[in-house]
Amino acid sequence: MDDVLVIGGGAAGFYGAIQVAEKNPRLNIRILEKSSKLLSKVRVSGGGRCNVTHHEFQPKMLASHYPRGEKLLKTLFQRYQAADVIQWFARHSVSLKTEDDGRMFPETDSSQTIIDCFLRVAHKAGVVIETQTEVIRVEKEEDCFNVLTREGKKFKARKLLVCMGGHPQPGAYQWLADLGHRIIKPIPSLFTFNDPAGTYKHLMGVSVPTASVKIAGTNFSFSGPVLITHWGLSGPAIIRLSAWAAEWLAANNYTFTALVNWPGITKTEERVREELLAMKGNRPNLKVVNQALYGLPVRLWQALCTEAEIDADKTWSETSHKQLNRLLEKLIRCPFSIRGKTTFKEEFVTCGGVDLTMVNPQRMESTVVKNLFFAGEVLNLDGETGGFNFQCAWTTAWVAAQAIAEAEK
Ligand SMILES: Cc1cc2nc3c(=O)[nH]c(=O)nc-3n(C[C@H](O)[C@H](O)[C@H](O)COP(=O)(O)OP(=O)(O)OC[C@H]3O[C@@H](n4cnc5c(N)ncnc54)[C@H](O)[C@@H]3O)c2cc1C
Repeated sequence: MDDVLVIGGGAAGFYGAIQVAEKNPRLNIRILEKSSKLLSKVRVSGGGRCNVTHHEFQPKMLASHYPRGEKLLKTLFQRYQAADVIQWFARHSVSLKTEDDGRMFPETDSSQTIIDCFLRVAHKAGVVIETQTEVIRVEKEEDCFNVLTREGKKFKARKLLVCMGGHPQPGAYQWLADLGHRIIKPIPSLFTFNDPAGTYKHLMGVSVPTASVKIAGTNFSFSGPVLITHWGLSGPAIIRLSAWAAEWLAANNYTFTALVNWPGITKTEERVREELLAMKGNRPNLKVVNQALYGLPVRLWQALCTEAEIDADKTWSETSHKQLNRLLEKLIRCPFSIRGKTTFKEEFVTCGGVDLTMVNPQRMESTVVKNLFFAGEVLNLDGETGGFNFQCAWTTAWVAAQAIAEAEK
C-alpha cells in the first residue's frame, strides 16, 4: 500500500510527487508512467529548451492567458504562481532567464536541465518510479484505491494524484468517466491555419508585426504578428486565435474565412480610405506599387495591389476609386479561405478533459471521489503558447500536493 500514487510521469506528475515529498517526507510516493520514457514532453518542449513559465507575476494577468480555466487559475495563482516556480527552481540550483517576449527558459537553454533537476530531487526524496505501467482501471474501496494496469500489475494506495496529461482519444479518459467524472470532449488547441488556395504562398516568410485577424462571422479576433507560410497563416496572432476559438473551429471543421487587417486595428476603414485618397492628391505621379503604406513589406503591398487589379505601372492619379476601394478591402479585410490546420512547431495542447466542475478548487480534489486529485492537462485547462501550459501544470500540482500532504499528516 502506497500513501500516494501519481498517475503520469510528466510535468505535473513529477512536480506534484516532489511537492508532496517536500511537504511531508514520511509519505511513500510512487509514480506510474505508461511509456518507457519519463518527462518526454518536457524534453521536446520549447524546441528542446523548455519554456518553463512566463515572466508575469500578477495572478489576474497570468490567468488571462488561459482560454479554458481562467477563473480557476486566477484563484490558484494567488496561492502559487510564476514567481514561486522561479524560486523553487532556484532553490534546486536551476536559474531561469527571461526573453524579450516574456518566455522563461533555463539558463542552460536545455530542457535536460529541468529533467535532471526533477529526477535528482525525486530520487533524493525517495519517490519510486515505475515506467511501462499504464493505468486502465481504478476501483475505490472504503479507505483506498485498487489500481490495475494494462500490463496486469496491481497497486494499492490511499491517495491518487492523476496527472496523465491530454489525449486526443476520449477513450483514454474512460476509467475516469467510470469513476463518475464528466469528460469534456478533447480537441486540439494551438495550431496554424491552412489556406489551400495559396494566393499569397509566394510571400512565405513575410510577416507583419501588428496585423489583426478575425474569424469572419464571429467575435474572435486577435492582433499581433502574422506570418505568411507556404501552407497558410501562422504567427502569434494566429496561434492565440486558434486557442481562444478552439471549440468553435473544431465545431466548424476548421473551415472558415480568416480576415486579416494588415495595417492593424488602430487603422479604421474610414482612416485607410482617407489616406489612400490623400495619396491620389499628394503623390499623383508616383506608382502605387512602389508606395507601400503602413510599413507593410513591399512584396506584400505589391501582392495586395495585384489582387486589387492595380497594374504595376499605374500612378496614384491613374488609379480609379473602384481600384482604391478594392485595395482598401484587401488591406483591411484580406480574406483567406481556411481549410484545416497544421501543428505549430510540433507544440499542441488538449482543450477538454476532466470538467472543472468536478474539482474542488481549493484542493484540486475530485468532487465525486474523495482522495483522488487532479493536476495538469488532464483537466479542461489550457493556455496560450509562452510557458503558460507548464505554469498550469506546476500550479495545479502544487495545490493538489499541499492538500494531499496536509491530509496525510
Ligand atoms: C512539442 C511540445 C512542446 C511544448 N512546449 C511547451 C513549452 O515550451 N512550454 C509550455 O508551457 N508548454 C509546452 N507544451 C505543453 C506542455 O508540454 C504540456 O501542457 C504539459 O506537458 C502538461 O503536463 P502534464 O503533466 O499534465 O502532461 P504530460 O506532460 O503530457 O504528462 C502526462 C504523462 O502521463 C502519462 N500517462 C498518460 N496516460 C497514462 C496512464 N493511463 N497511466 C500512466 N501514465 C499515463 C503520459 O505518458 C505522460 O508521460 C508543449 C507541448 C508539446 C507537445
